[in-house]
Amino acid sequence: DLLISQIAAGEVVERPASVLKELLENSLDAGSTAIQVHLEEGGVKLIRITDDGCGIARDELALALTRHATSKIASLDDLERVASFGFRGEALASVAAVARLAITSRERGAAHAWKLRGENGAAPEPAALMAGTVVEMRDLYYNTPARRKFLKSESTEFAHCADAVRRLALTRPDVAISLTHNGRSLFQLAPADRARRIGEVVGDDFVAASRTVDAAAGPISLHGFAIDPTRAGEAKDGQNVFVNGRFVRDKIIGHALREAYRDVLHGARQPAVCLFLEIDPGLVDVNVHPAKTEVRFRDSRAVHQFVYHAIQRTLATPIQ
Ligand code: ADP
Ligand code: MG
Repeated sequence: DLLISQIAAGEVVERPASVLKELLENSLDAGSTAIQVHLEEGGVKLIRITDDGCGIARDELALALTRHATSKIASLDDLERVASFGFRGEALASVAAVARLAITSRERGAAHAWKLRGENGAAPEPAALMAGTVVEMRDLYYNTPARRKFLKSESTEFAHCADAVRRLALTRPDVAISLTHNGRSLFQLAPADRARRIGEVVGDDFVAASRTVDAAAGPISLHGFAIDPTRAGEAKDGQNVFVNGRFVRDKIIGHALREAYRDVLHGARQPAVCLFLEIDPGLVDVNVHPAKTEVRFRDSRAVHQFVYHAIQRTLATPIQ
């Protein structure tokens, strides 16, 4: 039912960047090694993602657009240790309810690609594509003008989209990724090691002014860069924190970071960091909200202590 779909879509499709995030995660889940993102008018007019992933078989295209059709979970048990990003099977259906959606995909080994428009009653048509999948979303909220009113300016919506692409670029330095807006190329990143990718995305000045973080204890580890407290003024602030590859805004981690900086040097209220926390998936709940920048740790005190000590030790160690 379209109305219910449109209401449910509000959960997932908050703005162009939230569509983009879901589509990027689908491309990663499909094992892509190269992803191209084309946007027009802040992603409101067009979001086009081209990937080189496993593709979708002709007969599964229609299913992919159906709510709760996910190829990623076989049983409820899987929910506990879900490793892929997508597992709710509602992103594409939600997008199709509030925008014009088209998917062109060629499954590995298929003779050619198929294209399906996300309209009622549409059938797959033969299409040309070398490999992988192209997902095109046009005219977000064309059929729900009340929602359209809540969109911000083109530059604001674009900034959110660019953040989504940058976050993916940070978590997956092994994946080539490019971003084009209104025909202008913003970046084209080749596969790189993590330090180099962080330099390209956050800035070489940030990496140069940072300490390397490298800590592990049992089921939890922390890697990345944290700005040297004495040089905190040199790089623009920004907290890029990822938990098991997902960008998060987490109060526990944020608090641990501030405390560690405060105890080493008075200052750096919002220390610039780019940190990757890896934790046993059984010790964190990532299914808190569809927008998924929140996580819930089973033992948040343990996480706080670990992050605090890892950063505190890193900052307190004299540089040779
Ligand atoms: P979920 O990701 O939660 O499974 P989605 O609605 O995002 O749900 O996607 C539905 C299904 O469509 C996926 O499970 C996957 O099988 C398929 N799919 C979507 N995008 C891609 C892609 N870029 N490459 C391959 N398969 C895809
Ligand atoms: Mg998905």
